Amino acid sequence: MAKKKRTLTTNFGTPVDDDQNTVTAGSSGPALIQDVHLIEKLAHFDRERIPERVVHAKGAGAYGYFEVTHDVIRYTMAQFLSKIGKRTEVFVRFSTVGGERGSADSARDPRGFAVKFYTEEGNYDLVGNNTPVFFIRDPLKFPDFIHTQKRLAASNLKDPDMFWDFLSLTPESVHQVTILFSNRGTPRSYRHMNGYSGHTFKRYNDKGEYYWVKIHLITDQGIQNLSREEATRLAGEDPDHATRDLYEAIERGDHPSWTVSVQIMTAEQAGDYHFNPFDITKVLPHGDFPLIPVGRMVLDRNPENYFAEVEQSAFSPGNFVPGIAASPDKLLQGRLFSYHDTHRHRLGPNYHLIPVNRSKGTAADNYQRDAAMLTDERTGGDPNYYPNTFAGPEPRPEVAEPPFEVTGMAARQTYTHPNDDFVQAGDLYRKVMTDEDRDHLIGNIVDHLGGAQKRIQLRQTALFYKADPEYGRHVAEGIGLDVKKVEHLAGLSQEERVKATME
Ligand code: NDP
Repeated sequence: MAKKKRTLTTNFGTPVDDDQNTVTAGSSGPALIQDVHLIEKLAHFDRERIPERVVHAKGAGAYGYFEVTHDVIRYTMAQFLSKIGKRTEVFVRFSTVGGERGSADSARDPRGFAVKFYTEEGNYDLVGNNTPVFFIRDPLKFPDFIHTQKRLAASNLKDPDMFWDFLSLTPESVHQVTILFSNRGTPRSYRHMNGYSGHTFKRYNDKGEYYWVKIHLITDQGIQNLSREEATRLAGEDPDHATRDLYEAIERGDHPSWTVSVQIMTAEQAGDYHFNPFDITKVLPHGDFPLIPVGRMVLDRNPENYFAEVEQSAFSPGNFVPGIAASPDKLLQGRLFSYHDTHRHRLGPNYHLIPVNRSKGTAADNYQRDAAMLTDERTGGDPNYYPNTFAGPEPRPEVAEPPFEVTGMAARQTYTHPNDDFVQAGDLYRKVMTDEDRDHLIGNIVDHLGGAQKRIQLRQTALFYKADPEYGRHVAEGIGLDVKKVEHLAGLSQEERVKATME
């Protein structure tokens, strides 16, 4: 059947008579400013790009659902988790972190794993990564860390010196660096990787009880990774391979899924635990806190317009629903500010009204008004102040999170247990990795660290040595460093080590 003929219009719906020939004076020009269609078309084109995300610029997204498979009601009052079998629509965006919007999907980089749950109580965002830990634990270090993953001001090139200089001066990064330089740093696709909350979050129920929770989304496709050589090849042959893989899998009905579990810690356990459970450079060992299954997430629908839905999607770790709240994790506290702030810059103050970001289960109802790009007319006749006697929206005290006692001196506090920065990186190397994993890890590090200055190589290799002497020795041998020197540096304090590698 022939499709109905459509009329080309301006942005305001009026018909356009000709889209091939600019209005000119005479057949060879000049063009006339009275050609408002030309002016509109060029002016809109000039504004097609919005600021790229400063991190996680390259990404792919899809819709699907989350289904509760196990009873977790005693831990949280969140309604979307209240019943086995309950389904909630989700939108997920996967991404790389450091590269630009056109960068290769196969880059060695953590992968963003952000999930927006459109619950009946508003949107809840879980803004995680494919790694359970992070490089730094203090948000004050975040801009510096990201700069080291970007380009040098002078050459506009990535630079192994700045990458490793920062990491070797930031020993708490060694756990995440070990995961990043294992083959998990180059996942085969977005479907073949896990997602982790990273941070510990609070869950609370309607009895005023609360728990600390870490969330794991374990891929049902199985973990699959690229080798360094495969990743390099794909960066040239198909830089969008992960974007393509996700889109095509969903198009052919091969819907990827993840089993969602939580690790749960009581307030008493957190108080007694042998390290700070809010430190994002560490995992909670499965032996102490086993995974408790919660549900399953399935992605079954591609977006129809990448820009509208994926590029304009905006997540924030501060988007909670009643029953879920923040923890004292310092890095999380910084993110609670930064995500909304960057979206206001990138998309404008009314970015929550863009359909992909808009709450579907409830209508936002408050006293915030106006600002650029307001498209929501519902509140036009309502009072714009609180309190009021004109039936404006009222707070619901019963959803408040239980109070949480905090004591201590207000100060810039240094971390007082520097030696435990190395324990879990060492455990991963010794106890979890296979011989093949370790070979790949060493090869990947040698390939990258080999490009940095020798004094930086020595300082960084000493950190690997502190995680595990064999780990440090193998990196040193791979790069051609003096192993005795690395051993010596590993025995020094971080301050002494930095001094000794300044000559
Ligand atoms: P477990 O032996 O119980 O768990 C080890 C976990 O490590 C596995 O379940 C798997 O997590 C993950 N893993 C397996 N191979 C690799 C790899 N090559 N690179 C990165 N991670 C891998 O031990 P613990 O819980 O005591 O943790 C030991 C170490 O395992 C930690 O120090 C940490 O480095 C790593 N790890 C621990 C996680 C946790 O939440 N406890 C999560 C991920 C890593 P998964 O099932 O999530 O794929």
